[in-house]
Amino acid sequence: MENTQAGTERSWIELKIENLKHNVKVLTEAMPPACELMAVVKAEAYGHGACRIATILNEMGIKAFAVATIEEGIQLRKNGIRGEVLILGYTSVKRASDLEKYDLIQTLIDFDYAKALNSQNFALKVHIKIDTGMHRLGFPCKEVMAVKKVFEMKHLKIGGIYTHLCCADSLQADDMAFTGRQIDRFYQLLDTLKKEKIKIPKVHIQSSYGLLNYPDLTCHYVRAGIALYGVLSAPNDETNLKLDLRPVLSLKSRVVSIRRVKKGDSVGYGRDFVAERDSRIAIVPIGYGDGFPRNLSNGNGRAAVNGHIVPIVGRICMDQLSIDITDVQGVSTGNIVTLIGAEECDDLSASAVAYRSGSISNELLCRMGARLPVIILRR
Ligand SMILES: *Cc1c(COP(=O)(O)O)cnc(C)c1O
Repeated sequence: MENTQAGTERSWIELKIENLKHNVKVLTEAMPPACELMAVVKAEAYGHGACRIATILNEMGIKAFAVATIEEGIQLRKNGIRGEVLILGYTSVKRASDLEKYDLIQTLIDFDYAKALNSQNFALKVHIKIDTGMHRLGFPCKEVMAVKKVFEMKHLKIGGIYTHLCCADSLQADDMAFTGRQIDRFYQLLDTLKKEKIKIPKVHIQSSYGLLNYPDLTCHYVRAGIALYGVLSAPNDETNLKLDLRPVLSLKSRVVSIRRVKKGDSVGYGRDFVAERDSRIAIVPIGYGDGFPRNLSNGNGRAAVNGHIVPIVGRICMDQLSIDITDVQGVSTGNIVTLIGAEECDDLSASAVAYRSGSISNELLCRMGARLPVIILRR
C-alpha cells in the first residue's frame, strides 16, 4: 500500500492515534479506580510531539501531565493544554514568576531548593520528591523533619508527594526486594508525617514499569511514559501485568536510488562494506541527523522493504543509509522502507531496534523528531 500523503516524500514518522487511545484505555483499566493517569510527555512525548499528544489526551479527558523542564511546560500551556503540568526536573528559582504565570507545578528536589523557591515570594504549586534509594533527586527519606518544614513554607502550595523506583523494570528477586524497600520507606515517611499532623497530599510512585510490575499499589497517579506510547524499554522484558499495548510510532522512508555494485566493490564511508557478490544496493534518505542511530551501521540494523527484512550495509551517514536488496525482487524507487514498525515485523519494534543499537526504546524514540515530518493516521 503506497502512501502518497504530503510529507511522505523522504522520511517520516507515522503516528497511529487509535493505538495511543487504546493504550490510555488499557493503562487506565489496569489502575485502581481512584488513580489517575499522569501522561509523561517530556522530550517531545518521547519523539511523538508533546503538544500534539497532550492535545489528544486532553480531549480524551486526561488532566495531568508531566514534563522534564519549564520550557516544555510553557510550550504545553501556550498550546492550550489544560489541567496539571508537573515539572519532574530542576528549574532555576529565578523562573519562579514563570512557574506562577503558566500555572506549572514544580518538583522540590531537596530542602535547600525548597527554601530558595519559597523565598522568591511567588505563590507556587509544588510536589515534594522523596529519595527512597535512587539517589538522584528528592529529600532523603530519613529527613522527615525537613519535609515537615516544607509544609510550613508560606509560598509553597503542596499538592503532591512522590518517589521514583529505580529498578521496577526487573523481576529479579534482589531488585524486587530493593523496590519493596523503596516502597516501604516511602509509606513509612508518610506515616511519620501523619503522626506530625500533616495532611498528606496526592501520592505517586509508579512509572510505566511501576504499574506493570507493582499494579497493586494504590496511589493517586501513575506517571506513565513509555507504556503510553505502546512499547517496552527492552524487547524481552517480562512484566507481572501483561497488557495489550500497541506501538504508536513507526519510522518510514523511501528507496530513492538503486545501484548495482560488483563483487569486491565497497559502499559508503570508510569502505566498511565490501560486496561479497554482485549486489543491488538501495539508498534510503534517512540518517543519524534524523535521529536514526549510527551504530546500526554495518549489518547491525535492519529494514523492511516489500515485505522482506534486509540488512543495513556500510556506515549510516548523517542523511542517508544503504540497504542490501540483492535477495528481494521487485524493489523500485519510491518503495516504502520501514525502519521502526512493530506491526510489520516484531524484529522492527522500537525495543528490538533500540536493543540492537545498544540502547532502550525510550532513547531511540526521544532522539527522533528534530527533522522528520509527522504523519497522523487517525484511522
Ligand atoms: C521519565 C519519568 C517517568 C516516566 O517513565 P516511563 O518509564 O517512561 O514510564 C516517570 N517518573 C519520572 C520521575 C520520570 O523522570
